[in-house]
Amino acid sequence: MKKVLITGAAGFLGSHLCDRFIKEGYHVIAMDNLITGDLKNIEHLFKLEQFEYYHHDVTKFVHVPGDLDYILHFASPASPIDYLKIPIQTLKVGALGTHNLLGLAKDKGARILIASTSEIYGDPLVHPQTEEYYGNVNTIGPRGVYDEAKRFQESITMAYNRFHGVETRIVRIFNTYGPRMRLNDGRVIPAFMGQALRGEDLTVFGDGSQTRSFCYVDDEIEGIYRLLLSDYDLPVNIGNPHEITIKDFAEEIIKLTGTDQKIIYKPLPKDDPLQRQPDISKAKEILGWEPKVGRAEGMKKTFDYFKTLSQQELNKTDHRDFSSRNKR
Ligand code: UDP
Repeated sequence: MKKVLITGAAGFLGSHLCDRFIKEGYHVIAMDNLITGDLKNIEHLFKLEQFEYYHHDVTKFVHVPGDLDYILHFASPASPIDYLKIPIQTLKVGALGTHNLLGLAKDKGARILIASTSEIYGDPLVHPQTEEYYGNVNTIGPRGVYDEAKRFQESITMAYNRFHGVETRIVRIFNTYGPRMRLNDGRVIPAFMGQALRGEDLTVFGDGSQTRSFCYVDDEIEGIYRLLLSDYDLPVNIGNPHEITIKDFAEEIIKLTGTDQKIIYKPLPKDDPLQRQPDISKAKEILGWEPKVGRAEGMKKTFDYFKTLSQQELNKTDHRDFSSRNKR
């Protein structure tokens, strides 16, 4: 039985990866320090013999007994509200955490896949974003802690690849959504769905003309799985190229949820990218991958998930207010 270590395993993407690798017949070692993850995302796997969980912070030395075939490094805060609350941990897990896991991969002779992000393109001046675009990042802005950690992560990964011959894969993940997103992480989809369920108005930041392209989690996981098993070691964008403005998206959510809430406008957070859309030609060509789940179907499944949350969970939402914290 092949063994895979998944970091950030109790998070949104990490937990879906655990499910996928269990389904594929792997032995899964799940690791998380639960800063942003939640054990309820993986508790259904605890009874399985081929599943182990380690509570560990990967910025500290990582020890895993025995052989290891694959490592997937998905530990990281991944929402703008998290970068503001825990900026140092965000930098450390992308930099020190990645270093530790690359060292582990080298030691075990394991192949390692690193979760990178469309954020490495910053507020992009090239549209849609191809893997060849170098990006437009504000190093000292509030998002810089995430963007630069992920850029460093890509550099050190390629250094281990070239210098130590470690087998590496780099996925650049674009906005992904689905069940198990954290309701209070401040991201636009849980924010809008939580607001709809609480009967509040939907908060659009700026004038809502900024765009995003949302990928359903099952499609994202399929792309990552194929990339891991491919022999391609340069970065690959995995995301859904179907682009929409945030204002149009808010209107879609109002229709989907059948609520009669209004849209209200709030200040645009600093360095919020104006546009984002993946060019997925590489993924199509190299992995034979493209997304299959449309927004209507994916959003319905996601809303059905949020509807299962208790009233108490729904009311725990953090309201993002960037106006005072984020001036500089
Ligand atoms: N956004 C919004 N209202 C909210 C939360 C987010 O209009 O309540 C906007 C945000 O300013 C950004 C887009 O939605 O332009 C996507 O934000 P998210 O935090 O989900 O992800 P990211 O900016 O990292 O793509």
